[in-house]
Amino acid sequence: MSKYVSKLNLKYLVMFSTLSTFEFQRQFTDVNSCLSYLAETKWKEGYQCRKCGCKQHTKGYHPYGRRCKNCRYDESATAHTVFHNLKFNLLKAFYGVFRYCKKKGISSYELAKEIGVSQPTAWLFHCKIQQLMQSSGKHPLTGEVHIDEYVTGGPEPGKQGRSYGKKKKTLILVEVRPGHKTGRVYCQKITNYKKETLYPIIESKVSKNAKVVTDEFPSYDKLKEKFPKAIQRKSDAGKSFPVVHQQIMNMKGWLRGIHHQ
Ligand SMILES: [Zn+2]
Repeated sequence: MSKYVSKLNLKYLVMFSTLSTFEFQRQFTDVNSCLSYLAETKWKEGYQCRKCGCKQHTKGYHPYGRRCKNCRYDESATAHTVFHNLKFNLLKAFYGVFRYCKKKGISSYELAKEIGVSQPTAWLFHCKIQQLMQSSGKHPLTGEVHIDEYVTGGPEPGKQGRSYGKKKKTLILVEVRPGHKTGRVYCQKITNYKKETLYPIIESKVSKNAKVVTDEFPSYDKLKEKFPKAIQRKSDAGKSFPVVHQQIMNMKGWLRGIHHQ
């Protein structure tokens, strides 16, 4: 699997793991909603032809696909993703990946029953997803990695700072490349902001050599023992972490879109 494939596919895993079943079902109602989501994710930072590098495109042959204006190379929304060339309906495949994100140990037998495909078909898809999950775990975040948390649903009245009551808390880890560019992003739901909760996640997802950057929240003050290059920086209401905050805004905007649909 190429690097590009796992990077793109990782985004789906991140998105799917933040959704509840209800939210998933509101967002993905048919094949078109899946294709539109794939195309949107794939070309979010603009279109560029894989063959010749041209940045202009026309409509592709397949729905939501794109064709290069220069060399006519046609790319479907599913190409270079885990959803390409499947023998069954794309909505079922989306649901399958969603189920994997929710229940890591799900068997191909259960999957076959849940999405209504034959067992051999479910088995092949199962292998594809397994490979994808492993590859995402095998490549820890490197370089400069900014870490922060956010809550979805907005703060509850009367609560301040990190005491957000029953809102969903998420830890976000973002690779920041030179020029404030976003690299890979990893999110995980957390139940609290204690060191015991945060450190194992960070240690499993970030390379020891990474320059870990956090705000001055006390839970982060021992990260330097695990990551020698770690630093803490005044958050200044998020202004010191523009890349992370952009990602959080994206994620919240995306979730809001689902609720409004
Ligand atoms: Zn081209």
